Amino acid sequence: MTDGSVYYEPLEKSVREAFSPEDAARVRDAFFFAYEAHNGQLRRSGEAYIIHPVAVAKILLDFGMDAPSVIAALLHDVVEDTPVTAEDVKKRFGADVALLVEGVTKLGKVPLQSREEQQAENLRKLLLAMCEDIRVIIIKLADRLHNMRTLSFVPEQKRRDTARETIEIYAPIAHRLGIRPVKEELEDLAISYLDPVAYAEIERNLEEQGTQRKEFLDAIKARIGERVRAYVPDAVIEGRIKSVHGIYRKMYMQGKTFEQIYDIYAVRIIVNTVSDCYNCLGVIHDMYNPLQGRFKDYISTPKPNMYQSLHTTLIGREGIPFEVQIRTHEMHKTAEYGIAAHWKYKLGVKDPSDANRIEKGIGWVRHLLEAQSESGQAADLLDTIKNDFVSDEVFVFTPKGDVVCLPAGATVIDFAYSIHSAVGNKMVGAKVDKRIVPLDYRLKNGEIVEVLTSQQPGKGPSRDWLKIVATNEARTKIRTWFKKERREENIAEGRAEYERELRRNNFSLTESQSEALLAVLCEKQKQPSADDFFAALGYGGIVLSKIMPQIRDEYNKLIAAGQPAQPKLAKKAKTVSSEGVVVEGIDNCLVKLSRCCKPIPGDEIVGFITRGHGVSVHKRDCPNVPKVLAAAPEPERWIRVFWNSEERQSFFASLLLTCLSGSTVMNDIFTALNSIHVAVSAINTRDTKDGRMLVNVSVEVSSVEHLRSVIAKLAKTPGVTNVERSGSDI
Ligand code: MN
Repeated sequence: MTDGSVYYEPLEKSVREAFSPEDAARVRDAFFFAYEAHNGQLRRSGEAYIIHPVAVAKILLDFGMDAPSVIAALLHDVVEDTPVTAEDVKKRFGADVALLVEGVTKLGKVPLQSREEQQAENLRKLLLAMCEDIRVIIIKLADRLHNMRTLSFVPEQKRRDTARETIEIYAPIAHRLGIRPVKEELEDLAISYLDPVAYAEIERNLEEQGTQRKEFLDAIKARIGERVRAYVPDAVIEGRIKSVHGIYRKMYMQGKTFEQIYDIYAVRIIVNTVSDCYNCLGVIHDMYNPLQGRFKDYISTPKPNMYQSLHTTLIGREGIPFEVQIRTHEMHKTAEYGIAAHWKYKLGVKDPSDANRIEKGIGWVRHLLEAQSESGQAADLLDTIKNDFVSDEVFVFTPKGDVVCLPAGATVIDFAYSIHSAVGNKMVGAKVDKRIVPLDYRLKNGEIVEVLTSQQPGKGPSRDWLKIVATNEARTKIRTWFKKERREENIAEGRAEYERELRRNNFSLTESQSEALLAVLCEKQKQPSADDFFAALGYGGIVLSKIMPQIRDEYNKLIAAGQPAQPKLAKKAKTVSSEGVVVEGIDNCLVKLSRCCKPIPGDEIVGFITRGHGVSVHKRDCPNVPKVLAAAPEPERWIRVFWNSEERQSFFASLLLTCLSGSTVMNDIFTALNSIHVAVSAINTRDTKDGRMLVNVSVEVSSVEHLRSVIAKLAKTPGVTNVERSGSDI
């Protein structure tokens, strides 16, 4: 149609109500600018593209965000998806808007980067922009929210990837910023795409039991209202329903049944002053018995995302527990809008105390970026958000009374590093509530923690701490210290570990072979010298157990290429079987690869001398090894075996694929395998009760490395949700 003004209609009224005539005109101008730029582009739903920026702008308007945010929302995709440049935006709409648009624009695709690396770099850019201007992340969250609402038009695999990224990264960010409705909607939408069966079940439960529970809650609300209003006449009493994702977590992660979740419905009391809050609490505790250990005072100790409330769980007359939340109207706004509340109720952030609170609200972002810039690895940033954000939190205090929030399970060492790297690095001990505690002490809510440091030069963290700490922040900072401060020690430590491991595996090499092996390893691990390689092993940048298969491969190649390397071993009898397995110490014996775990070259293996069937070769971690051991405990029947890499070309491995049912999945799997020239020797499928399909496929591969690449290929195939190696026969 025409000039596009029909697409502006959803905004028209709210814009007029929210902004001055001048600002409203600028918003309108931005709309037409975006409309022109996106003209001709369609969303996957088939609708005009402009629908999306308009919807994002509407979300921000409903959130009470200011005109530059709404304008930036309308323009947020033009730089990324149309010929319009950042410079064009700046000229027409000013530096303020341009900065916001630039902040939500993804980096250009850098070739040779994995999807994870790109994701990490984009996130880092977003967080940096957010430190400059917090509105960037609020726009990004609104963008993601609308994309999630319309995700059903996106192809299956992309949909799952986006849903997973949302639940791992964007919902936790919304949580940290205290924007509860956005966090909950993002999580609920993500669950509905990732686990539609469970989602439907929870919805059904809510519907079926809803009426009954609602009657129960209404009765309580009425009783509470009557008593509370006698003391606090203008108290507002509300009911609240837990989000689907909240229920999902309790049902599927904590293993509770729907009936066992007590806070699905809660009563909320909203009053004018803090003293009214405590008054109400007194009244409530007088009416009902509180459940021990469930009272939480987030008014005197706000959560780091600024949330404040009193929470208590009570036993109702019918013996059914229920939760009550008490807060002021001011706290309620913060609980609903988080950091965005500062725009909703005052136009712009003029008040210094507001700026202060916003600064506090994003302190964690600066923290995160600092830790990451020390380690230099963007991937650490992703890990921190994924691991540290989702786990439950503990709140503890510094001796001065500042609140520090850490993931549950954090130790005093995590605490020290969250204060500053220098504090952690000089730490020698800690006091909790004035008592000395061991360094692996796990913190509990409300404890006062004091870090004891030493000013002695040369003092530093211990490597053992890496096994104790619970946060990625502490782990990264400890590694960074070792990387920087202790090169000589790292080299010695790394070399010792390397040599120990070679001995343990009975590798034996001539001097020139050792040098050759090291040279290959340095090259493969991108280390400029053997010292750098050892140093990396020493501080944990390279994990020896992870590269052991590679070392073994290279070792086998060297041995195969050179003279019999070890006079000792050469003298010993050995069998090289047609399976490509070398059996040490036995001449001409029958060797077979066990059918239970189907080892392939590169796997760590052990041999077992069976009664009358030769040597059977198992993977070292085969679940049957302990069983065989129990049946035949004679240690002398276990025998060292290893791969002779040149003997055999191919091996069979079984893979178990979990797939979404659909007519094209099998086809896609065959196409994927075909494209990398992998032969399939058997395949069968069965459907599961929850609408998925399990595919057992046996493939021919040449090594573990090869198998890994096959797994990676299959994992990327549309409709395949999981791939694992299975021992069982088809
Ligand atoms: Mn967008």
